[in-house]
Amino acid sequence: MKYGRLFAPLDLGFMRLPNRIVMGSMHTGLEDRARNYPKLAAYFAARARGGAGLLVSGGIAPNRAGWGFPFAGKLSSPGEVARHQLVTQAVHSEGGKICMQILHTGRYAYHPFPVAPSAIRAPINRYKPRGLSSDGVRDQIADFVNCARLAQDAGYDGVEIMGSEGYFINEFLAPRTNNRTDEWGGSLENRARLALEIVRQTRAAVGPDFIIIFRISGLDLVEGGGTGAEVEWLASQMEGAGATMLNTGIGWHEARIPTIAGAVPRGAFGWVSARIKAATRLPVIATNRFNSPDGAEAMLEKGDADLVSMARPLLADPDLPRKSAEGRENEINTCIACNQGCLDKVFEGKRATCLVNPRAAYETELLIEPVKPAKRIAVVGAGPAGLACATTLAERGHRVTLFERAHEIGGQFRYAREVPGKEDFHDTLRYFARRIELTGVELRLNTTAESAQLAADGFDAFVIASGVSARVPDIPGIDHPRVITYPELLSGVKQAGESVAIVGAGGIGFDVATFLTHDADADYFEEWGIDRTLTNRGGLVPPKRVTSRRRVYLLQRKPGKLGATLGKTTGWIHRSALKARGVVMRNGVNYQRIDDAGLHLTTEAGAELLAVEHVIICAGQESVKGLASELASSGKPVHVIGGALLAAELDAERAIREGVTLAATL
Ligand code: FAD
Ligand code: NAP
Ligand code: SF4
Repeated sequence: MKYGRLFAPLDLGFMRLPNRIVMGSMHTGLEDRARNYPKLAAYFAARARGGAGLLVSGGIAPNRAGWGFPFAGKLSSPGEVARHQLVTQAVHSEGGKICMQILHTGRYAYHPFPVAPSAIRAPINRYKPRGLSSDGVRDQIADFVNCARLAQDAGYDGVEIMGSEGYFINEFLAPRTNNRTDEWGGSLENRARLALEIVRQTRAAVGPDFIIIFRISGLDLVEGGGTGAEVEWLASQMEGAGATMLNTGIGWHEARIPTIAGAVPRGAFGWVSARIKAATRLPVIATNRFNSPDGAEAMLEKGDADLVSMARPLLADPDLPRKSAEGRENEINTCIACNQGCLDKVFEGKRATCLVNPRAAYETELLIEPVKPAKRIAVVGAGPAGLACATTLAERGHRVTLFERAHEIGGQFRYAREVPGKEDFHDTLRYFARRIELTGVELRLNTTAESAQLAADGFDAFVIASGVSARVPDIPGIDHPRVITYPELLSGVKQAGESVAIVGAGGIGFDVATFLTHDADADYFEEWGIDRTLTNRGGLVPPKRVTSRRRVYLLQRKPGKLGATLGKTTGWIHRSALKARGVVMRNGVNYQRIDDAGLHLTTEAGAELLAVEHVIICAGQESVKGLASELASSGKPVHVIGGALLAAELDAERAIREGVTLAATL
């Protein structure tokens, strides 16, 4: 078997896991309301059916203080058990196994009553925590233990105790957040006492045949965080305390270093798990940026971990394990590490889903069911919207013809995948290409659909997914040879010189600036200041920032911060990376003209010339939807989706969701 190590069972003594794929904890938002547990049960049942060896739930607080926000998911009283039984029964009926994560958010709690080792406010929270008394610490431990007991009553196969990411337990471990002088602070033994007591007392309460995963922070990435030696010592103590296995945590939420975004190389933190593994006999789970069976298998092959956690990849494709086991890995709908559908939504207080799989966490609502009688449907445009719609329609049984005027599928995604950090977007197109084959969509490339022909071809319905085209702003000199559009640049039709002005600082302006300043030889760990020796506290060293040789100006007309509309969890990464590379960001500019001298602007300070070799236009997009009105008189239903429907605030998440949602109803 190609993935022999990934699909080797793991014997825990009292339980056997069928393979080494763990669906890591991912908050969906469904955990927070009792009425949503049937949806949560369906969500996990799908992942169990897909073959993951072990699932871990989103974080559940052991008490009110540990809530992430008011009324977040909690398990502290018997009355809260029944809703969890829906989840465990659904998973078990699919032959799966599931642990519940106990998450006490400590000083990250976004409510007025957080508790922590010391009264030190987190830089990402406006609420200052109350420093606990010694008895108060013991009460919190008791609440962890009570929560684990109730999880056992609910039928979970175990619990994961969240000890990383800068939450409550991690805050005790790190001098950054723990300045106590009692038995819970000071020496390493004292700082680690909470973690070890929680595991010890939980084991005593739940007995031997129940999984206890401790998620240990292998790399804090904040000043005053732990050292490698401290992490290894804690790992070495966990077996004696009663843990079943260790999961790896990377980076506190307040760290200013990307740890799961697309800019992070795949499997970048395997070495952290390897260090933990070397310090313990317990099985160790590797995490962060494993999104393919190949990467996971390679990790296990090196002997650096015993299991591999994939949370977002199983949001993207619940069937990743089964497809991998059956040699169908080219059918996997790969997570592209965009965070747009999942974490960005969670941080906005919305239900998580997935950009490439809008059914994630909507399993009971967005149903893809066989259809009779089948219709003949024409889909125009093989961008994300058209691809999602055409393949879902065909999956349901419709006969679908997909027209694409370009020589390949992808639409705007063909440009996106050229941006450094967006290499995973290639996989989305690989996935759709395979889906087209499997579902039997008739794909006509190099074919511009025209209304007369479409109307004459006898289709029963039309889906217009003709997308967007780059806006050409009305700036004098826009036809000057030094002007390049972003499609021309990213498709390689034209190259930019050593000095460039980018007109427009939306998502695409930022991506183009990244493309222009990227240094292929730059080392991710050096660029972001990660100490791979783990001798410094928090695993930090001064970043080695390499200024780009190319002079780049990123411009917008409106006042205010550039990149304000970028993703909540990724925008700061783009801004700080470009700043470090020396990109000049300017707001409040007015474009006057482009000529042989460069780009002429006016700002509050007066007239200015940017003497650049090239001006790249990233000034938004306009809908391409002429066909919709032309087909209105055909007498057949015409549906418009994605960029063709509305160019403003378009992204691939909306495009794909609209494609699948429409296809589910036709
Ligand atoms: P399009 O992608 O525009 O596809 C429309 C397709 O229709 C095209 O292939 C076109 O050739 C075809 N077509 C048009 N007319 C006809 C016709 N008459 N006959 C046949 N074919 C026709 N979005 C995100 O969510 N996250 C990101 O990180 C992200 N990064 C991006 C980075 C870059 C550099 C770019 C350019 C875009 C990025 N996007 C991102 C935006 C995303 O790509 C678009 O939102 C998405 O592609 C829109 O999908 P669509 O199917 O509606 O339209
Ligand atoms: P956008 O985000 O709307 O940005 C367009 C930019 O062009 C703005 O900075 C705007 O700023 C400027 N602009 C608009 N009209 C102009 C004009 N007439 N003349 C000069 N400048 C003008 O659009 P986009 O960057 O093209 O991105 C398209 C979509 O793709 C976005 O909605 C985004 O969601 C998605 N995308 C997402 C990501 C991601 O990482 N999540 C990355 C890329 C793209 P001023 O008007 O202030 O000048
Ligand atoms: Fe992955 Fe993006 Fe889906 Fe999140 S939304 S699971 S990051 S593809």
